[in-house]
Parts: sequence; C-alpha cells; structure tokens
Amino acid sequence: MEELRHNVLVHRVDAMGFPTASVVVVTAARALVVDTLTRPQDMEPVLEALAERAPGRRRLVVNTHHHWDHVYGNAAFATTDIVAQRACPRLLEAQLRGVSESVPAPPPDGVPLPTVTFGDRLTYVGEDETVHLIHTPGHSEDSLVAYLDEAAVLLAGDTLEWPLPNLGQRDASEIWVRTLRQLKQLPVTTILPSHGPALGKELIDANERYLTGVYEAVADLKRRGADRHELDVPAATLLPPGVELDEVYQAAHRRNLEFAWDEA
Ligand SMILES: [Zn+2]
Repeated sequence: MEELRHNVLVHRVDAMGFPTASVVVVTAARALVVDTLTRPQDMEPVLEALAERAPGRRRLVVNTHHHWDHVYGNAAFATTDIVAQRACPRLLEAQLRGVSESVPAPPPDGVPLPTVTFGDRLTYVGEDETVHLIHTPGHSEDSLVAYLDEAAVLLAGDTLEWPLPNLGQRDASEIWVRTLRQLKQLPVTTILPSHGPALGKELIDANERYLTGVYEAVADLKRRGADRHELDVPAATLLPPGVELDEVYQAAHRRNLEFAWDEA
C-alpha cells in the first residue's frame, strides 16, 4: 500500500477503468477503513495492513456513499461496524435490488449494509488525530467526506474527483456547489479523491468550475434546440489548461452532458 502520510495508507484497484482508492487511517485508538472497493478480495492488502500496522485498534469501516465501487467489499468486514450517512442503507438496498448496466452484480457473499449512520456530521475524537465525517451531498444524496484534523487531509470520496466529477444526484447541482463552498472553508493541505491523485485545494475550484460550466453550457445548447445526443461541449473548455482525458473520462464527460440535459 502507498503511504500518503504517516498512518494514512492507500490501496487502489481498477473499477471499470476508474482507479479507485480505499484508505486506512491509523490513530492511537482506532483503525478506519474508508471504502471497501468492488469485492471482498480487494480488501486483502487492507486486512494485511491492519494486522501489521494497527494491531489492537478498534476497527471501523466507513462507506463514503452507496455506489458499488465503494461498498461491494463490505463483506470482508462482517463483524466490524460500518459507518455511513443516514441515506446510505436505503440507497444501497435499492442498488442491490435494481438491475443496471453500469452496476455489476454484487459479490456472492452479499453486501452488508452500514450499521451506524449519522445525519450531518460524526466526529471521532482521538489523542493524536480527530476524524470528522461530514455529509456532502451532490454526487449522491448520501455522500460524505472524511476530514483528518491533525493531518489536514481530506478524503473526499466522489464529492471531488480528478480530472472531473461524475454527476449522480438528480437536481442537485446547486446542492453540490454549496457543498464545495463549504469544503473550501476547511484548512486542508491535501485532498485525496476516491478516483484520482492526491491534490491541493485547487481541486475544489476545478470541480466547481466544471460543474457550473456543464450546466450553463448544456442549458444554452438546449435553448438553441440541440439534441440530447449531440451536445458539443469540449471538456477542455471546462477543465484546467493542459488536462487530457482518457477514454473513460471522455465517456464520463459525455454522460455528464446528457445528465445535465435531462434537467435543463
Ligand atoms: Zn466512485
């Protein structure tokens, strides 16, 4: 596992082309696992790291939101409390019942639902580190971030993403922008999104500019009669200079334009 900070370890897997991270945070009293990726087997390196680096700590799993690439490994932690935002269990159950092309079948061991939920904020105070879980709707109704107070690190889930965010919550663009402005108030130096490299606070501005830009450009095209499938909004006009998109994120950008078109 990669060491982002002393006692902040990162394990990444590929989830349908998206590099996706699970993060272990070791404090004096606890070991937190933020997201369980796509299947219980993805958690093997995480379980090894916990045994090696965090013996005797109270374990806690956090689901940043209900999407499959963040929770399908929950069964690797059958006897551990799983913490999530209050809307997560309902949304996860619906995802498990539904059939969707973009969501693979759940693993054979099933997906245990979160056992501990909160509304706006849940704080774990510790001698050496305090971890705040903060509800940050926008990408999904149940999205949360984990803010490590001492380390000044933000584990952003899919609330922030590089090179661009994936629209996922219906009619929530204003809610998401409000969330981003709230995150800008946090004194963080490092932001690790679930998908993408560790960056600084410039990621928040980049995502805000992209989100507002997508909705403005699509509304403008729709007014001028453009069809849902011919939305010509080059991502480069909405991203920081020099950012090149791979095929996975080109497709994500096209999905975002159509998602916004359905609301404009
Ligand atoms: Zn994701």
